[in-house]
Amino acid sequence: MEASTQHDAYTPNEGREPFMHRVFSKLFGRSSEKDTIASLVKQRDASPEPHIINEQINAEELRLQKDELQSYPVYIAINTITACNARCAFCYYYPQVATLPRLGLRDFEAMPWLKNISTLDLYGGLGEPLMNPEFSDIVLHLRQANPFQRLIFTSNGQLINKGIAEILAGKVSTITISINAATKATYEAIMGGCNWDILLKNLEIFQELNLTRPNPTTLSLSYVATRTNIDEAGLLIPLMHSLRINSIGINHFSTSGIWPKRESPRLPRTDSLYFHKNLSDERFSSLKQQFSDADITCNMPPLFSEPSTISFGGRARYGTMSSWRCSAPWNQCYVCHPEPTAYLSQTQADEYWCAPCCSIGADISLLVPFHKEDFITQVWNSSAFKVMRRHSNNLDAMLRACRFCRTTDKSDAQNPFVVLDNLHASSEEIYKILNLQFPDAMEQRRKIIHEEYQRQLNDFEKIAITQRQETLRR
Ligand code: SF4
Repeated sequence: MEASTQHDAYTPNEGREPFMHRVFSKLFGRSSEKDTIASLVKQRDASPEPHIINEQINAEELRLQKDELQSYPVYIAINTITACNARCAFCYYYPQVATLPRLGLRDFEAMPWLKNISTLDLYGGLGEPLMNPEFSDIVLHLRQANPFQRLIFTSNGQLINKGIAEILAGKVSTITISINAATKATYEAIMGGCNWDILLKNLEIFQELNLTRPNPTTLSLSYVATRTNIDEAGLLIPLMHSLRINSIGINHFSTSGIWPKRESPRLPRTDSLYFHKNLSDERFSSLKQQFSDADITCNMPPLFSEPSTISFGGRARYGTMSSWRCSAPWNQCYVCHPEPTAYLSQTQADEYWCAPCCSIGADISLLVPFHKEDFITQVWNSSAFKVMRRHSNNLDAMLRACRFCRTTDKSDAQNPFVVLDNLHASSEEIYKILNLQFPDAMEQRRKIIHEEYQRQLNDFEKIAITQRQETLRR
């Protein structure tokens, strides 16, 4: 998992009624909501572009804060495989535990309902999608079955070759390349197992073909910023120009995570820019200017000196806990193959980790039987998802996970309690509300995280003591 990647397909609104809602209300009035939704569902199911009507139903159900939905999510992220060919120093996931089971072409053929989804992300935060030997077949199938759907994914780019470029170029809407460095030495030090020259060659091969297509795929870069690589980020500009890549997302290295942490000697916790705030602000300001001068879109978190609030477990420029209404349980779903939990305990073959948000901000993955043909009943309207819809925006009875997501900066490496807060914000609460037994697999994962937290806290105290001693010595 790329721990600092913020999935940003949908950002919470600030309590304002979105434009589509207002148009929708005016067109149909609010008195006949039930009939309107029923009629739109009929239209959607007969439409060659059902995602457009699905978005309208979804917006209305969000406005009404319904907990039982007729609409599908607008955005779904699915991990088709959890194996990975890289060992990135900033990543908490253990790809070495992944074994072969994966979602293949037949699984996607068994999900005709995916046509209702506006954006389908074939990367849910774990693994390298191109390691799935059926990945190209899946893309070809989806492109043919749902030609208007926005298909996206994130990759380290190491496995792109001419054959893959032939198939993916122009068929996928956006590919985000996780690059995290601008020189060979830093890249290969951070992204264990990856080769800088291969990456550059692969991107050239891809773009050479891609840019001849009528609707080329947009390439974008993602950069997890640390003390190790922040000074060289600006060097990407000439490379981006030569490759015709026009956007980059820069995020902080997040030292906490939902997975047991395996701090790498290649990237110690103190490499987080939270330990270097003045320097970080200086570099981020300069980068913002450099990318803007180069006509490259650069998304980055607010400077430490800028006013900010917490949204999605990270520093943001908008909203406060009471003002932003989370739409995630209505319009997003993250689906993860059960495989990463196999090392914790045996899970049922038809159980998947499903969550309404990327679960990096708060640990609220749910173990749900992901019946591929009947997503709406089995997953989307499962009692667990309904509980989330009832409690994610309710200030008087808000889930701890949602409170955490709105109040705690998960990237704050200087806060040793982030992991503990995260633990407290776990899915266990949802099972309690439902009076259901907390699944063994999740219980075991919690235990492992807890042990890891204790170890981290000890390490943190050691760092704090060393720092104090150094200060005394000076
Ligand atoms: S944790 Fe709660 S508030 Fe945060 S994105 Fe998920 S559902 Fe929304």
